[in-house]
Amino acid sequence: MAVKSLTPTPDLSPTTHQPPATSSHHDVIIVGGGLAGSAAASWLAQAGARVLLLEAGRFPHDKLCGEFLSPECQAVFGRLGMTSAVQALGPSYLTASRFTALDGQVWDARLPAPGLGLSRAALDPLLFNHAAQQGATALQGARVTRVTRQSAQAWRVEWQTGDATHETVVPLVLGAWGKRSGLDRTLNRPFLGQSHPTFALKAHYGGPSLDRRVEIHGFDGGYCGLAEVEGGRVNLCLLAETRRLKAHLGDPERFVQRVLPTNPALGDWLAQARRLSPRFIAISQIPFVPKSQVVDGVLMLGDTAGLISPLVGNGMAMALTSAEIAAPLALQYLDGRLKHREMAAEYSRRWQARFQRRLWLGRLAQPLLFRPAALSLGLRLLRLAPALGDALVAHTRDPLLPTP
Ligand SMILES: Cc1cc2nc3c(=O)[nH]c(=O)nc-3n(C[C@H](O)[C@H](O)[C@H](O)COP(=O)(O)OP(=O)(O)OC[C@H]3O[C@@H](n4cnc5c(N)ncnc54)[C@H](O)[C@@H]3O)c2cc1C
Repeated sequence: MAVKSLTPTPDLSPTTHQPPATSSHHDVIIVGGGLAGSAAASWLAQAGARVLLLEAGRFPHDKLCGEFLSPECQAVFGRLGMTSAVQALGPSYLTASRFTALDGQVWDARLPAPGLGLSRAALDPLLFNHAAQQGATALQGARVTRVTRQSAQAWRVEWQTGDATHETVVPLVLGAWGKRSGLDRTLNRPFLGQSHPTFALKAHYGGPSLDRRVEIHGFDGGYCGLAEVEGGRVNLCLLAETRRLKAHLGDPERFVQRVLPTNPALGDWLAQARRLSPRFIAISQIPFVPKSQVVDGVLMLGDTAGLISPLVGNGMAMALTSAEIAAPLALQYLDGRLKHREMAAEYSRRWQARFQRRLWLGRLAQPLLFRPAALSLGLRLLRLAPALGDALVAHTRDPLLPTP
């Protein structure tokens, strides 16, 4: 296929082999229409590739997420040509952060650059529709059940819409199905054999103003984030050890009522707030462990490739950026300038160079936040040496993003 050029242009030397050919009308199937899948579909379709984007769910739907968009996301929206469309959704602008511990220790800091608070129910369909506007065939209610490699340059994708089953053979598949899916099992991904002893809850609240702060409040065995999103609602999203929930009979309502007020700052806020969401969204077995970026020739994007601690507030930026890394390489492959294995190796290399350090820091810091004494000590240190906080934030951000 002939594709238009896409910036940033990868610095790989062209090869002379033939471009892949299959009987399909599509060059690439992207599995999952979340942030990573929709962004990749937009870039590939914009450049002239024939993209089939398959999303199992239907928009709009609520999603478990802290809904804090780091400045890197805004940079990607700019490159996608979506800045004004995102602004039209009325996100809140978040300029500061506050961390609190059980014993009342507080650390306040300005964010190095403003973040946005925007619900996933608003953001995800915007990106999905953008992919369709760029020319991707974007289907909702289309669940992929199996991806099988047929040859060096052909993958069979089996998918369902309602009662109908479909089969398409394409020269390229991008996996963007999120943290975990039945597809991980069909691909025998090793992380499924590990234990992931954390759970998360999310709901929207109406409550006292947070004065443009994103707040993280620690409690024994977990932490809870608060951030305002569009319409003045506040996203409450917590992450904690699963055994703590079990101690409350597995009941999210009981857990929230009994555990969150143990942190006085959070308790005060909750006492004046009221829940707007009818119920909590809950997930468990969250795989914060290393994953492979390429499995059976499928390039993994976003959480499918690796999940960062939400503490860092950077997962959405990673999802969007992984799509931005994959798209130009995919185009070179589809254009016949790269062999599949060259494209896959280069994608893994670039992904690791970009994200490895922040993933490692997130894995290191998350358990500390779960321990009240460690969190309290950490906050005291940060108050004494604010430069330490700046350095930590800088190490979890994209080194390619200019510092303000
Ligand atoms: C507790 C918690 C809080 C977080 N808070 C933040 C935060 O404040 N800021 C931040 O930047 N990040 C945060 N994150 C991380 C962020 O939510 C993710 O990194 C981001 O959603 C990843 O996007 P994605 O496109 O990879 O996956 P997703 O957004 O999960 O999209 C995957 C899509 O694939 C679809 N899908 C799944 N299986 C199939 C299938 N078989 N066929 C077709 N479609 C399928 C799903 O329906 C879904 O739409 C948080 C994560 C957690 C766990």
